[in-house]
Amino acid sequence: MTRRSFWAWGTADREPSPADYAAMAERIYRRYGATRPPPTPPTDADLNLRKPRIRPHPLVAEFCATDDHDRATHSYGRSFRDRIRGFNCQFPNPPDVIAYPRTEAEVVTVLDWCANSNIVAIPYGGGSSVAAGVEPPAADAVVTIDLTRLGQVIEIDDTSRAARIQAGALGPGLEAQLRPHGFTLRHFPQSFEFSTLGGWIATRSGGHYATNHTHIDDFVESVRMVTPSGVWESRRLPGSGAGPSPDRLVIGSEGILGIITEAWMRIQARPRFRASAGVVFDSMAGASEGARRIAQAKMWPANLRMLDPAEAEDFAGLDGTRALLIIGFEAAELPQGDNIRQAVSIARDAGGVIDEGQILVADAAERSESSAGRQGAVGSWRNSFINAPYERNATIGFGVVAETLETAITWERWPAMDAMVRSALAEALRRTCGGGRVSCRFTHVYPDGPAPYYTFEGLGQVGGELEAHAEIKQAASDAVMAAGGTITHHHAVGRTHRPWYDGQRPDPFAEALRAVKRSVDPNGILNPGVLIDP
Ligand SMILES: Cc1cc2nc3c(=O)[nH]c(=O)nc-3n(C[C@H](O)[C@H](O)[C@H](O)COP(=O)(O)OP(=O)(O)OC[C@H]3O[C@@H](n4cnc5c(N)ncnc54)[C@H](O)[C@@H]3O)c2cc1C
Repeated sequence: MTRRSFWAWGTADREPSPADYAAMAERIYRRYGATRPPPTPPTDADLNLRKPRIRPHPLVAEFCATDDHDRATHSYGRSFRDRIRGFNCQFPNPPDVIAYPRTEAEVVTVLDWCANSNIVAIPYGGGSSVAAGVEPPAADAVVTIDLTRLGQVIEIDDTSRAARIQAGALGPGLEAQLRPHGFTLRHFPQSFEFSTLGGWIATRSGGHYATNHTHIDDFVESVRMVTPSGVWESRRLPGSGAGPSPDRLVIGSEGILGIITEAWMRIQARPRFRASAGVVFDSMAGASEGARRIAQAKMWPANLRMLDPAEAEDFAGLDGTRALLIIGFEAAELPQGDNIRQAVSIARDAGGVIDEGQILVADAAERSESSAGRQGAVGSWRNSFINAPYERNATIGFGVVAETLETAITWERWPAMDAMVRSALAEALRRTCGGGRVSCRFTHVYPDGPAPYYTFEGLGQVGGELEAHAEIKQAASDAVMAAGGTITHHHAVGRTHRPWYDGQRPDPFAEALRAVKRSVDPNGILNPGVLIDP
């Protein structure tokens, strides 16, 4: 594979081209009436990193790298802030050494070296964190442990439908190994291409399923994690009531308790039957109501995404006045026509409109590009979803300030929260960029509430993006907390969300978490500053 870009989403060969920049300049002119010259992206020759402060121990040197490109690439995740800093070659605190263990034994060796020498160790999967989860803290020495060479599906149990998978498996490689056996994990976060099983588990990632199995949690059967104090492995069980679950502490531990090396994951037969519909509503309130009624009918569609009018215009080609509710069902065993018709009927009762001919039902024989979910507004939305991270690369360097933020809230508080978040975003965009655009969709929907996901964008000054972004992010996060939401539904806490997370979690729980960390990581070397202060 071509090597990763040190600043952009994706590989270096997919960094924006001159044509992409020309198209972006035109889009900026159309949207903001401003003429901005295309930026010049950085190259490896522009990197001038601090020299590594430590040398790899002889026992690990064979699988370590210390070159500037590797260290720059591993300095940040891929949030807006990360891409701006990377683009400007601002790498004041890069990791000193990048370790690429190829076996669990090598993970143990590198962790032992770090623990014995008091070196900070940062577990790193795909590096797609948007919460500064892989960014080195201030420390005398930092080793980033990149797990992507542990990428194998080791074993498949097709009786119980579970697979033992190494933590460094990236999304596409993981699915490619399951496919010949007729199975799939079906965990497709938008970052699927460059995120790993271990990262998904460590961050409680939210994936493909908009209802029911929303987080990776639901697919974890057991986990194996290497800690400085020994191996933590749970028993494979379909369920258990034996006290607090050890997996529950590992899932969402964000690299502070140990390095996840493998997990038994619940897998499933590949879906053969699909059905989808894009139901149009006059307002977001109507589309939200449709989503609520379908979620509460417990039909568990795989897709149930409300797009507000701005989002439906930007990502599904609607006219900007109407909202869209995308409904999708899939199954390996049974046709889904009855389910989609039932869900559409509930959406119509809530005020939605769709022609009968736009309800798409595909059975096993029709699995081409024309299948359900790949046409019309639903298909447009799907393509935008996949391409959006690449398109955002081209905004960097123009002074555009753009980011997404996500939360969850119960239904009865959702309208008030939406008003508060939009007002905070609009006001902060006005102060920092003279105005901007805000849109919202639901990424996941529960019977008791939605997980709203906001996208904001404004045109600030080149060089002033980070300041503007910080002000907007602060205002929106404060509004989320004041409205009673969670600071993150699936993007994790990392370092970015700490101030709000600290206010959200109960104090005795923080103390308990600190005690757990002390017992498995007595020197506090693992990812300090994430989730808690050791
Ligand atoms: C464009 C884009 C789209 C995204 N879309 C989604 C989405 O749809 N859903 C979603 O949930 N998130 C999304 N994210 C956020 C991010 O992709 C997730 O948090 C993802 O789970 C991180 O996986 P990773 O392998 O890249 O982990 P990394 O970014 O490498 O690490 C994230 C955290 O997990 C820890 N970690 C990683 N691997 C291990 C391991 N093996 N053992 C212990 N700790 C480990 C790290 O120390 C760090 O704290 C998106 C991010 C981007 C940039």
